[in-house]
Amino acid sequence: MEKSGLSVRYGLVWDSLNDEQRAAVMEVGEDYKRFMDASKTERLCAREIVRRAQQQGFSELQSKKSLKPGDKVYSVNRGKSVMLAVIGRQNVAQGLSIVGSHIDSPRLDLKQNPLYEDGSMALLKTHYYGGVRKYQWVARPLALCGTVVLRDGSIAEIEVGSAPGDPVFYISDLLPHLSADQNKKTLAEGITGEDLNAVAGTLPGAETDRRFATGVLRLLNEKYGMTEEDFVSAELELVPAENARDVGFDRSCVAAYGHDDRVCAYTSMQALFDVQECEKTAVALFVDKEEVGSMGNTGMHSRYFANVVGQMIRLQEGACSGFDVDLALAKSALLSSDVAAALDPNYPTVADPRNAAVLGKGVTLVKYTGSRGKSGSNDASAEFIGRVRRCFGEAGVVWQTGELGKVDQGGGGTIAYILANCDMDVLDVGVPVLSMHAPFELVSKADVYMTIRAYRAFYKSC
Ligand SMILES: [Zn+2]
Repeated sequence: MEKSGLSVRYGLVWDSLNDEQRAAVMEVGEDYKRFMDASKTERLCAREIVRRAQQQGFSELQSKKSLKPGDKVYSVNRGKSVMLAVIGRQNVAQGLSIVGSHIDSPRLDLKQNPLYEDGSMALLKTHYYGGVRKYQWVARPLALCGTVVLRDGSIAEIEVGSAPGDPVFYISDLLPHLSADQNKKTLAEGITGEDLNAVAGTLPGAETDRRFATGVLRLLNEKYGMTEEDFVSAELELVPAENARDVGFDRSCVAAYGHDDRVCAYTSMQALFDVQECEKTAVALFVDKEEVGSMGNTGMHSRYFANVVGQMIRLQEGACSGFDVDLALAKSALLSSDVAAALDPNYPTVADPRNAAVLGKGVTLVKYTGSRGKSGSNDASAEFIGRVRRCFGEAGVVWQTGELGKVDQGGGGTIAYILANCDMDVLDVGVPVLSMHAPFELVSKADVYMTIRAYRAFYKSC
């Protein structure tokens, strides 16, 4: 937020709130934790978004015969990405107001042939997904979540480790007494990807061969009807078992797995639920695969979203060409809703303090991401940032700017460039996060609350 006068200074969200609003921040925090506990994988998150959307009166786009202003629709792509839309007074062909986040998070996927035994234990081999720091994933409780397509085509859903009383999975680490060699390695090399094998059981089966693996397989067969070959057609993810928790004596922050980027999914979903009518069709988009480059049929590079836009245009206009879709996308605007790296007081040297986002100072506008000279970045235009800034200012939104670390420290990206390549105006706008990509990340409840207000203002008047 800009103060009046010539110089710029960003303020604290808390200072802008009255008592009633402060209570609302805490209420949002409670609901946000419930959302996160139900959303530890992209599939679970998609399911939770659809469940909440249905409660809000959204119906499946594919069931609609027509679309009129105020209609609320959703579309689900392969159970892993979701679009929610509130139809505007203008036809969809005139463009959309989109807030787009991703609902996949770094994790450990089971390999295709994961089960083996060693040291009188059954273990599961993993292949990490996204940017994980491997040393953070050992010696901590993990939950196993995912979908198994059995030999006969039926589907078994596995979710073990998050509910109270559930067993968890566990990857061992060396004891300090015997880690002299490991201690000499760098943080990146100390634990390798092939070291990330999780304990699945130690009860021997009655067989003479593969007794520990067979012990586990028997349990999987009893509970899910699974055989070992079924791992081949499974997507099973090891994720942190802990549920979201308040942080601090004052409970002002939330630590949870997967704030990146489900905090932006939650805030955009809540903002859209507040939209009853709008000029342009308001869309909240929740995509998969961002952490591995947005590839594939559920990632942002997929034609899926364009096809859904085409379906909406066809319902309103009676027909729709590929060029109609392209033009609708070109007339659209996107807030690429991804988390921003907050200034970490333990590691201040990786940031430029004048340009880093700060926890508690509100929703964060990030003009560019990328690395080595903005490479691969969307680099939003001055004109579009100006438009968003005016819109936020008029709505009393507390905002700040951020960047992904100081120049040449590293870098990263979001889905911003992909939709910008569709000739769309795009700006990265999201919640500041500490310990991004760690199994337990940190956000301020005040920033979560303010980000909902920011996206709401974007849908209503940007
Ligand atoms: Zn992200």
